[in-house]
Amino acid sequence: MGVKTHITILGGGPAGLAVAYYAKKEGLSFTLHEAASEVGGLCRTFRHGEFLYDSGAHRFHAVLPGVTREVLNLMGGDMRKVHAPSQVYIAGKLVNFPLTPFNVARSLGTGVLVRAVRDLVIAKLRRARHAQDFEATACRRYGRTIAELFLLGYSEKLWGLSCKLLSPAVAGRRLHGLNLRTLLTEMVFGSRWAKHLDGGFLYPRLGYGMIMQRLAEKAGLQHIHTGSTVTRLRHDHRRVVEIEINHRQRVAVREVAVTLPLNRLLEMLDPAPPAPLLALGRRLRFRNMVLVAVFLNQPSVTPNASVYFPETRFPFTRVFVPRNRSALMAPRGRTCLVAELPCWTEDKLWQASDDEISGWVLAALGEIGWARPEAVIGTAVHRLSGAYPVLDAESERAVARIAEYLATFQNIRITGRNALFTYTHLHDQMQSARELVDEYSRPNR
Ligand SMILES: Cc1cc2nc3c(=O)[nH]c(=O)nc-3n(C[C@H](O)[C@H](O)[C@H](O)COP(=O)(O)OP(=O)(O)OC[C@H]3O[C@@H](n4cnc5c(N)ncnc54)[C@H](O)[C@@H]3O)c2cc1C
Repeated sequence: MGVKTHITILGGGPAGLAVAYYAKKEGLSFTLHEAASEVGGLCRTFRHGEFLYDSGAHRFHAVLPGVTREVLNLMGGDMRKVHAPSQVYIAGKLVNFPLTPFNVARSLGTGVLVRAVRDLVIAKLRRARHAQDFEATACRRYGRTIAELFLLGYSEKLWGLSCKLLSPAVAGRRLHGLNLRTLLTEMVFGSRWAKHLDGGFLYPRLGYGMIMQRLAEKAGLQHIHTGSTVTRLRHDHRRVVEIEINHRQRVAVREVAVTLPLNRLLEMLDPAPPAPLLALGRRLRFRNMVLVAVFLNQPSVTPNASVYFPETRFPFTRVFVPRNRSALMAPRGRTCLVAELPCWTEDKLWQASDDEISGWVLAALGEIGWARPEAVIGTAVHRLSGAYPVLDAESERAVARIAEYLATFQNIRITGRNALFTYTHLHDQMQSARELVDEYSRPNR
């Protein structure tokens, strides 16, 4: 067998760390370059005094049995099954999530249920053409009443674009429990006959970032370079021969696994890609997220893991409660709420001071009785740049063109959320890393 290859991994978020972890497991050598001072990317756990909270409402999706086994082995006893529901706050009421017809009727009244059933039946009877945009997809799948109440306003707040401009791909499995079959089953047999999710998920004892720390430790911290920003990839006839770090240091490379945003990768290639391709890259947009943590001198506000806020009068799309994922995330007798506020870089929100942003969030939470001024003992604001790739009508074609171009390189492989420009989670990134490392491990590479 020939000499085993060396992998240079760009980016130390979950995708990069997963490649490093499997590389180590397979006995392949690697070096990982991460620009920030610590690993984890958009998947970290922050500390504020005795409070811990994640960079967004994270939970592990146990949908790929092989990956779940791997993560459970990695975490030992530190990964626990949590039972905490999620709800949607709408018209002053909390509706169970995932939505079911029974809940919609119970919380919002039978009038809404009747309209929802009517719209859903109409949507199913109409032999729809292939839906081109998110709005059409949502209305076809759930009927207009439910789509308008729960999905369309919410998605416009989340993505910052009209739902007519969003790709159907953002629909995902968001309203997984609500379909015509559940609806009819519930109407005939009652809610207990329908198969619902129970709010159960896996979560680490001390926050989601714990998985990142464990991946890094197992892979080998000595091969992980933080404060190491990749500034250029120099290639010779579509083979990357060296990378430049922090505009200074040059490092020769053999195989390169890239997890950086796709447009950044294009801009760093030297010689540069054709101009039309760079222009396509510049059209790709990433949505930022401002997180506001509100620390409270009270043990609980809600039993929910997360609460969704589709109404536009609230500046946040979701509020999560770290303590309801693991009691160790807050000191005894205290809790914290973390609000997620999506925005663009040019928005007033992104530019505002921390005090202004906290003020807006406290006012909105105060309005619904979740943050009484006398209970608030502090706030913290974090700005997450490029939290979500925005899948709009144009991005799919642009990404396909760029991927086609990158595939002509002999030694570039891309993986991760912003590199693939897809809405992936840790389990997807672990699976993708496993496949990548299998490919690198094949003899005669
Ligand atoms: C609000 C929110 C909620 C989420 N919920 C979940 C959930 O419930 N479950 C789940 O599994 N996942 C969840 N995710 C997704 C998860 O956090 C992402 O999958 C993940 O952060 C993306 O991983 P990544 O490694 O592809 O990219 P990133 O995390 O963005 O990592 C990329 C890394 O590359 C580094 N980098 C960038 N440029 C350079 C450069 N030039 N040189 C060197 N390094 C560079 C960055 O600093 C970063 O560390 C959520 C994400 C968000 C934002």
